[in-house]
Amino acid sequence: MGDTIETGAIRKVCVIGAGVMGAGIAAQVANSGTPVLLLDIVPDGATDRDAVAKGAVAKLLKTDPAPFMSKRAAKLVETGNIEDHLDRVGECDWIIEAVVERLDVKQALYTRLEELKRPGTAVSSNTSTIPLGKLVEGRGDQFRRDFLITHFFNPPRYMRLIEIVRGEATDPALAQRVEDFADRFLGKRIVPAKDTPGFIANRIGTYWLAVAINAAMDQGLTIEEADQIGGRPMGVPKTGIFGLIDLVGVDLMPLLSKSLSSTLPQGDPYFDTLRPMPLVDRMIADGYTGRKGKGGFYTFD
Ligand code: NAD
Repeated sequence: MGDTIETGAIRKVCVIGAGVMGAGIAAQVANSGTPVLLLDIVPDGATDRDAVAKGAVAKLLKTDPAPFMSKRAAKLVETGNIEDHLDRVGECDWIIEAVVERLDVKQALYTRLEELKRPGTAVSSNTSTIPLGKLVEGRGDQFRRDFLITHFFNPPRYMRLIEIVRGEATDPALAQRVEDFADRFLGKRIVPAKDTPGFIANRIGTYWLAVAINAAMDQGLTIEEADQIGGRPMGVPKTGIFGLIDLVGVDLMPLLSKSLSSTLPQGDPYFDTLRPMPLVDRMIADGYTGRKGKGGFYTFD
């Protein structure tokens, strides 16, 4: 184990959270020829405790129009759950956290990781909005040295950039190791971002998506009408804005809005735009979470 730290190689990666992003990131790591351990929660009442991560792998092999992962790469993905297998992070050189966008859930996971991971193993969060300073609150010096944010974009297979946030305590050599791997093995361009709410892309993006929903509702536009304006003319030719929300996950919208507004300074003009949206809440309650659910603003086969 010591030689992994000394050589600085990333030979095995653990991705925690096998949802839209975690699964896509794990596929990219496996496509690069690197073994990956993919973990998620144990679903309520499930007979197979690894069912979530296994289901994610099955989906990655089917993704339309092209699978996100080759069959050969899939052999490099081991699946498991965080109750039975979290101690296996000790085998990994980089742990990528891609669980639900909730500070309490992420912090509870880090408390466990702090006990189980090797010193010098990088831990990064895929958070869209939560500042690094908040994520590492309560963590010790070593964990803070090993921690950074690596914000992949959706879908990780096609979006060729990563926003990277280094904290004040982040070990520069460790961050460099992660950046080199992301560049050389995952083919990503690194965008260094400051530890500000929503970093660069989501400070703009969450606001922009929320403006689109509010404007369509206020003006009584259909989704198709709204996307005629919010599609090609605004630089989102394939999906339009509402199609993009379906891709991102409708359920992520209130989490992003809540998380972003909780970190904004008092009186910030974003507050009103990021207010709760009853329509979106109803869609989520009924299972219309977008492509990953029963459909969203659009229907999918
Ligand atoms: P998702 O809802 O698709 O997946 C989240 C997964 O986390 C689920 O499978 C859930 O079962 C799992 N999970 C919840 N608690 C867990 C725990 N304690 N341990 C292990 N797994 C747990 O969400 P997502 O869209 O993949 O988002 C994941 C993270 O990536 C969030 O922080 C989000 O803000 C960020 N992100 C999302 C997008 C996007 O477009 N969806 C883009 C960039 C970043």
